[in-house]
Amino acid sequence: MILVTCRELTEMATSRKEGRLRGSDRAGVQLHLAWCSRCRRYLEQMDLTVEALHDLEPEPVPEAAEAALLAAFERTRRR
Ligand SMILES: [Zn+2]
Repeated sequence: MILVTCRELTEMATSRKEGRLRGSDRAGVQLHLAWCSRCRRYLEQMDLTVEALHDLEPEPVPEAAEAALLAAFERTRRR
């Protein structure tokens, strides 16, 4: 039997959404969801959040913020 904990399920939620779970993980998630209403609710809320964010129009990034982000990214790349 394949056991998946609530924590493991939340860690695999994105892979599940993107259809990237291996067979044994997929079976473990399905088994877990059969009895755990909290994780079913968690995945439903995740789906609703993704849908809601998908409908938002992108906002332009202020120039100062973009420059600061690019500089920070450049600093991390050099490490
Ligand atoms: Zn659970």
